Amino acid sequence: MSDTKVKESTTRHNDPNKMAVRAAFDPTVPTDKPQEFYDQIKAKFAEERDKRLNARPDGLSQYTSELTGELAKYETDPWAEERIEREPIEDHVETLFIGGGFSALLTAARLRERGVESIRIVEKGSDVGGTWYWNRYPGAACDVSAYDYLPLLDELGYVPKSFFAKGPEIFAHCQAIAEKYDLYDLAIFQTTVTATHWDEKDKIWRLTTDRGDKLTANFVIVANGTLAKPKLSKIKGMETYQGHSFHTSRFDYAYCGHDLENLKDKRVGIIGTGATAVQIIPRLGRAAKSLHVFQRTPSAIDIRDDIPTDPEWAASLKPGWQKERLDRHVLGTRPDPDKRKEIESLPRELRTQRYENQNIEHQMRIHRRVEELVEDKATAEALKPWYMHRCKRPTYDDEYLPAFNLPNVHLVDTDGKGVTEINERGVVFDGVEYPVDVLIYATGFEVQVTGIYNDIRGEGGLELNDKYSTGMRTVFGIHSAGYPNLFIMGGYQASFQFNLTFMLQTQGFHIAECIKYTRENGYKTIDAKPESEQWWVDEVIKFRGTTNRNKECTPGYYNFEGQENRRQDGNYNGGMYQYVQHLDNSKTKFPEFFDFQQ
Ligand code: NDP
Repeated sequence: MSDTKVKESTTRHNDPNKMAVRAAFDPTVPTDKPQEFYDQIKAKFAEERDKRLNARPDGLSQYTSELTGELAKYETDPWAEERIEREPIEDHVETLFIGGGFSALLTAARLRERGVESIRIVEKGSDVGGTWYWNRYPGAACDVSAYDYLPLLDELGYVPKSFFAKGPEIFAHCQAIAEKYDLYDLAIFQTTVTATHWDEKDKIWRLTTDRGDKLTANFVIVANGTLAKPKLSKIKGMETYQGHSFHTSRFDYAYCGHDLENLKDKRVGIIGTGATAVQIIPRLGRAAKSLHVFQRTPSAIDIRDDIPTDPEWAASLKPGWQKERLDRHVLGTRPDPDKRKEIESLPRELRTQRYENQNIEHQMRIHRRVEELVEDKATAEALKPWYMHRCKRPTYDDEYLPAFNLPNVHLVDTDGKGVTEINERGVVFDGVEYPVDVLIYATGFEVQVTGIYNDIRGEGGLELNDKYSTGMRTVFGIHSAGYPNLFIMGGYQASFQFNLTFMLQTQGFHIAECIKYTRENGYKTIDAKPESEQWWVDEVIKFRGTTNRNKECTPGYYNFEGQENRRQDGNYNGGMYQYVQHLDNSKTKFPEFFDFQQ
């Protein structure tokens, strides 16, 4: 396959009407290099993966998100202007959201449209916004086109300012949604739900919080985010560090200065080179006296090429344009039957080989981009990712790679080992000490474990994670039998979408329809039927059988750090189109899928 072909499929630039299709591989098209070329690269991928795994065999337990005691400062809310002092609340609402990010905002909007008046958001932060409330680090922006990522644009009459929206614009949009749908009225901020227990007699949920509240609700929506709880890599000596330190999701502008001006005489260190670090590093590089970037696995950095929104295009948009765009997108994810037939007619081995070869071509283009943009050869080599596209979250940035040409920016490549030692002055790697005044942890987030801060107990007092201890069991990743009137958003067993808000909107519509149906038919509860649950678990397993990601990919949160994993404990891989079809289909025959009780 030629380079041109790969480039075409990754180019969306300068056309706001296009969806951001990043890389599409087609096994009916052969690649044009000798197979040996691809085999050698694949062998190198495996070698790098093993190196990384052997250096840190402790999998998921290499991290901690138990940010208490000495570590509590990494989770403190820097955006709260003051602690809200209030008396505990004891009252009842019809629907209660645990979390105030996009999951809650989108679903609440749909509930309002269906006449639900009593809606409460309970949120740990001091405002709505979720991810975009917390992540305000310099350069925070979204990698999905703003016209697709920012939801409810038709409803709010808003057109984003540029192809990719920046953090503050997205946060402001979240606030605008909350205003429009009156979601601030009953919202409780700076409050964490600690227990959500089903009362079988009264058929309501009883919730308690870290503020001593005793809340009840008919319907509870677990909307606490996919990647919400910051985690730290456990590193020997980290508690002895005497300089300043913080996690990227709690970016310390009080220390760094609003425009990072306080860093001009500071030595800065950053641990991690994931999607967050990629956005921060160019800004830190320009502001700091020196910047040391401690890398374990390089990110794949593709073209961003952001453009401001064309005012003429914006003026030409007709009401309902975003809905029409999203509908087109769903249809666009529908497999073309002729193409599918052609693909299926290929021998399985050849199909896999061509997918892999094209994937390798794609990654080699990423390598060439590093060579073009990074002047120092050794640094460029170290910045090349050696794994298949989509083994790790791909990133899109035009400033990251050139930042390594700045004389004050230094890459400390740990060759897959990662930082393993910190002392009172800074980081120690390979016997060399790197003293820094401030150390920033860009080490990511716990992947959503339902009820991450919360003890959820359904019928018979069974805790949800205990139910899942022998494998997750849900319908559509949203309902779990024995947990009536409880809806889970953005979790496993649902489809995975690069555009997360699209997934959440799909779930939000479904949840709103479920609640509407329950209310309008005079029922008190809706619960998944055990047989629907079994059917969905089987569907999830069927499609997860086709992925080798856990085994072959370099470790990361996409593949449970390379740990063995039950096939049902992950996303539904049947495709977004199929997922939407399943939800739409259930809507026409809810009683087949769910038990309703009066
Ligand atoms: P990630 O989990 O993606 O990255 C964590 C980073 O820390 C990795 O580079 C990891 O290395 C590194 N790390 C962990 N432990 C060590 C160690 N001991 N020494 C050195 N490095 C270490 O978190 P992010 O916050 O970057 O991103 C999380 C997700 O949030 C993204 O995947 C994306 O979904 C979303 N996001 C989206 C953005 C966008 O739209 N542009 C921007 C930011 C985030 P290793 O890879 O080896 O594990």
